[in-house]
Amino acid sequence: MIGAAVLFLQVAAASRMNLVVKQGEAEKSVPMIATVSGSYLRADLLANALGGTAAAGQKGRYVLTLGASRIELTEGVPFVKVNQEVVPLVLPSLRSGSNFLVPFQLAASIIPRFTTGYNYDLGAGILRIFSASARRVADVPERAPISGTSSSLPSASPSVDVSRPTRSRRSQRRLVVVDAGHGGPDNGMTGPIGDGPRIVEKNITLSVAQMLAQELRGSGVDVLMTRTTDTLIALSDRGRIANSNHGDLFVSVHVNASGTRSAAGARERGYETYFLAEAKSEDALRVEHMENEAVKFETGANAPKGDPLSFIINDMAQNEHLRESNDLAETIQDGFRHFHPGHDRGVQQANFAVLRGSYMPAVLVEIGFGTNPLEAAYLLDPDNQHTIAGSIAKGVMAYLDHYDARVGGGNH
Ligand SMILES: [Zn+2]
Repeated sequence: MIGAAVLFLQVAAASRMNLVVKQGEAEKSVPMIATVSGSYLRADLLANALGGTAAAGQKGRYVLTLGASRIELTEGVPFVKVNQEVVPLVLPSLRSGSNFLVPFQLAASIIPRFTTGYNYDLGAGILRIFSASARRVADVPERAPISGTSSSLPSASPSVDVSRPTRSRRSQRRLVVVDAGHGGPDNGMTGPIGDGPRIVEKNITLSVAQMLAQELRGSGVDVLMTRTTDTLIALSDRGRIANSNHGDLFVSVHVNASGTRSAAGARERGYETYFLAEAKSEDALRVEHMENEAVKFETGANAPKGDPLSFIINDMAQNEHLRESNDLAETIQDGFRHFHPGHDRGVQQANFAVLRGSYMPAVLVEIGFGTNPLEAAYLLDPDNQHTIAGSIAKGVMAYLDHYDARVGGGNH
């Protein structure tokens, strides 16, 4: 897949997008390099802007040193090793001529969360450097070295950290992982059946997910989005991204579609919220099948396959969150009753691949039927998208507050 990844690299010559790095009033910028699969940064320029150093190693490896943190990347591999932790990337690192390129995600998400002294402000698009002593030092989790990984990255699957995060929930800002369903070559559903403005699920989910992220950030919650552009993230990786970043909640946004493209199918409408469990009803099985279909788009470098053991461990880890996931789904579903023009289809259970890999309470929201002409038009309206995002955010906040109250002062 390495060769293919390099072939896909198309540098946008006139790109004027920059990553801005600020320390106090001092400002540096690192040019963003647009490729067909996503944005990249030159590793040496990034390290320099962050006050660190960069060095090429053997066998396609590249190491950034930022303060006490060592960040190791490998050409063509969609994982990064930060100190002793292996974290998945949405895109592999690349080489372009003599330059080593790292996915933008490294600067926007990985470095701020796994090293000290950096914060990425998504709204402003600025990576801020601040004194390490200002960081919540107690929040940095103690991690045992991963056995068998001396200085090399795995080329296929990341190590699975089977231990639960040990931090105190109350001393830490909560992190909600927001997943915009589908993306890239996977459009999700398209509609409506019959006349009406055309709706493509991946665009609606991204728009609503971004609004949801903004709402949650406004409420003082940290947010990690599995994708912020029109890219394909493997279903198994969506959960992994959430786990690696120690998310407290996982919310996946989708648009529903009728099982038949008939007049009767076109009339089907409404909203429903799923949590992970074995699918119960025939209808839940249909939605489960539809959402899991995205797996077929996951080929090549975007789809590192996990080992079977990791899925068994994931299933076990998820089980203890079933009740919480159900509560969260109920809270979100309740919120929709106040504004949504469609029917309340209730809380459902299904065995979604996207929810299966997450160690945290996880729900999937079908915000309406894109196959229904009225509902497709409703979902395309940004005002309505705002209402939907705001309602999900409210449900999430209510759930988090409730959860904190139940957990009380003790460590989780
Ligand atoms: Zn979907």
